[in-house]
Amino acid sequence: MPRSAHSALGNKKKSVSSSSSSSNDSMNGPAKRHKNNRNHWADGLLKFLDDPTDPAVVYLDDEFIAVKDKFPKAKCHYLVMPRDTKFRSLNDLEGRGDMVLLRKMEAVANKLVHDQNETGDPTLQFRYGFHAVPSLNHLHMHVISQDFDSPHLKNKKHWNSFTTTFFVPVEEMQIAVTKGKIDFTYRENRLKDGLKCHRCGKMQTNMPQLKQHISCCNYDATKEFDEYSD
Ligand code: AMP
Repeated sequence: MPRSAHSALGNKKKSVSSSSSSSNDSMNGPAKRHKNNRNHWADGLLKFLDDPTDPAVVYLDDEFIAVKDKFPKAKCHYLVMPRDTKFRSLNDLEGRGDMVLLRKMEAVANKLVHDQNETGDPTLQFRYGFHAVPSLNHLHMHVISQDFDSPHLKNKKHWNSFTTTFFVPVEEMQIAVTKGKIDFTYRENRLKDGLKCHRCGKMQTNMPQLKQHISCCNYDATKEFDEYSD
């Protein structure tokens, strides 16, 4: 049995310093607007850096921390973050060095999915990625199961933030970082897209219909591929 996130936490109850955040300009997040104000909602993740003993913390090591999303948009929804406060937003990712950081975040996500799948459902599928324009400060990667079965998934913006290209998969972010092109703000318009099923691609007219549809849509794109391959 691999080391569980909770046992990792139990073994390593280290506290991090509450150093103030970097003051670099932000294209991809709210850092510029709310810097150094930890009471602001946009700084809600910083408390975990200050206090990794918070019950929402599900993984901790020397470099990374992961928490349960406070308003999960699926059965399993976590946020993986570097503990270094210099990573205030996506804009703090620079070049090849941070490609390694992203790879490590991906490895943490893999561990979480393996150890923390609270539903006990081995068929759940997960995606890891970043919102093109995050609403909260401090670099955070979403680890989210693809059932989207949650009362917190309430509106088009929620849906499109995880199912359109507004959701930048970690693999794409890794490539972007090596190219030095990490500005995805141009994808903000995707939040206004129609409600499209992430499995079969059929458009839905409203959120109740979408939720009803995704609860029973079994379309599997990989099967279609199989039919056409030898
Ligand atoms: P974004 O900044 O758009 O990438 O997403 C921020 C995520 O953080 C959302 O999924 C929120 O549900 C979640 N969230 C907001 N406040 C908190 C909090 N205090 N603790 C944990 N998760 C939070």
